[in-house]
Amino acid sequence: MEATKTLELNVEEIRKDFPILHQKVEGRPLAYFDNAASTQKPQVVIDAISEYYQTINSNVHRGVHHLSQKATDAFEKGRSIVRKHLNAAQNHEIIFTKGVTDSINLVASSLGKGLIKEGDEIIISTLEHHSNIVPWQMLCQQTGAVLKVIPVNDAGELVQEEYEKLLSRKTKLVAVNHVSNALGTVNPIADMIAKAHAVGAWFLVDGAQSVPHMKVDVQALDADFYTFSSHKIFGPTGLGVLYGKESILEELPPYQGGGEMIAEVTFEKTTYAGLPHKFEAGTPHIEAGVVLGKALDYVNTIGLDRIAAYEKELLDYGTEQLRNNFSNIRFIGEAKEKASVISFLLGDIHPYDIGVLLDKMGIATRTGHHCTQPLMKHFGIPGTMRASFAFYNTKAEIDQMVEALAKAEMMLS
Ligand code: PLP
Repeated sequence: MEATKTLELNVEEIRKDFPILHQKVEGRPLAYFDNAASTQKPQVVIDAISEYYQTINSNVHRGVHHLSQKATDAFEKGRSIVRKHLNAAQNHEIIFTKGVTDSINLVASSLGKGLIKEGDEIIISTLEHHSNIVPWQMLCQQTGAVLKVIPVNDAGELVQEEYEKLLSRKTKLVAVNHVSNALGTVNPIADMIAKAHAVGAWFLVDGAQSVPHMKVDVQALDADFYTFSSHKIFGPTGLGVLYGKESILEELPPYQGGGEMIAEVTFEKTTYAGLPHKFEAGTPHIEAGVVLGKALDYVNTIGLDRIAAYEKELLDYGTEQLRNNFSNIRFIGEAKEKASVISFLLGDIHPYDIGVLLDKMGIATRTGHHCTQPLMKHFGIPGTMRASFAFYNTKAEIDQMVEALAKAEMMLS
């Protein structure tokens, strides 16, 4: 059964698409388990970057010449592929940003221009990445709004009864991740969105860790905002996507001012462009917009359902191997619904020390607080070791990690 699933995905063939994986680090084969931080790029993506600069590089939207029109068409095609990928209703509901951090800052900053007032409430959760905490704190400081935080239980799941208690007519926005980068918890987002809507609040989903691993349908979820970063889904860095419902984006004032986002400028007054350009001041990251489309096409050729099934296999196998081989292991985050992230501690060894030793054995993991300091504080720890998997990882690599961990443990204890 297991073999069939693996064969279906054909991991060995897939790995051939990723040149960076075939190298040695410190004389050992590289096992790359830092996919939650950033993913590696398939050859089609690398080639598409080069092709863009060799054939159509030019500025978009403003030029009448051949290259500018080609670049504009390719960039807008990228937007259209993103729309299909998220099943958004319209292309202009897809705003290109610099990444999830930038998308959240866009929404927080725009809301701060008159839509949030003193005494309004914004709800986030204990599971959030700093980029889904700090912009809301800044907004609250600026407006006198109040930040409320949904607690987590010992398994790293959001306590839904407490969430319900926090919701009220004062709630203007709820901002929660779909999947936690630190623990892998998959949150019951559809249900949480419905509850927020019942009190008239908007809901922003931080999809940094969900879009690369599962099918997301923003209309089925009824999300008001949904955001993800290109670099975490096998595309270039420096580009992100903010989906917003048309009616809400129309209501929000622009984020930044400059070229591209205007209809008409005089020294007395400026009128703004329509969606999506109202939120895309300045020359965008054109090449990345074009290439993200290629990355999404690549993912869809493999199929997100198959990716999710295979990554679940890796998650189960990795968890079992770690549990069986280390009696002193403490898993941080054991939610019933989990994506392919394993966070753990070995005895009282500092995760940083193990991370450094693992690197000497070719294994790239992440150690530390994972930009979730309040969450680490909740568990009373400075950080964790985190192995996060993508569909190009293998069980053999997990075995390599387990073996390396045993050596590291011996050296450190
Ligand atoms: N939210 C989550 C859950 C993340 O995992 C990350 C990055 O690790 C971010 C937000 C920030 O993404 P970016 O650095 O691409 O803006």
